[in-house]
Amino acid sequence: MTEFTITEDFPKSEIEFDLRFSKPEACLDYLFKQKWPDGFVCRKCGHQHCWFSSRKLYICTQCEHQHSLTAGTIMDSSKKPIIYWFKAMWWFTTRRSGVNAVNLKELLGLGSYGTAWTWLQKLRRCTI
Ligand SMILES: [Zn+2]
Repeated sequence: MTEFTITEDFPKSEIEFDLRFSKPEACLDYLFKQKWPDGFVCRKCGHQHCWFSSRKLYICTQCEHQHSLTAGTIMDSSKKPIIYWFKAMWWFTTRRSGVNAVNLKELLGLGSYGTAWTWLQKLRRCTI
């Protein structure tokens, strides 16, 4: 499982968050820097060069191992855009009063209560 650590590089307000993570590329860039702070390093062979595929995978130019930034995370295999997950994580970690499934469904415009409930379960497991 990929581990991420919250660093000082964390938005100070919701406005800052919205400005910074309004596009999927910004979210992927953030995950990239968390995973490889000193630049890409292939987990399989240690090579330091990769190319970015149209499927949003980082592929080692030496051994062609495919690296996903979301593999092993709660975002893995999600069909929802990554910006939805980032916003859910923002609300989950910053709202003092907490967020419940009804709130999350309305805040993100998710199609069902069940989806919001599942997302919250995943988020809560991250904090254990
Ligand atoms: Zn490699």
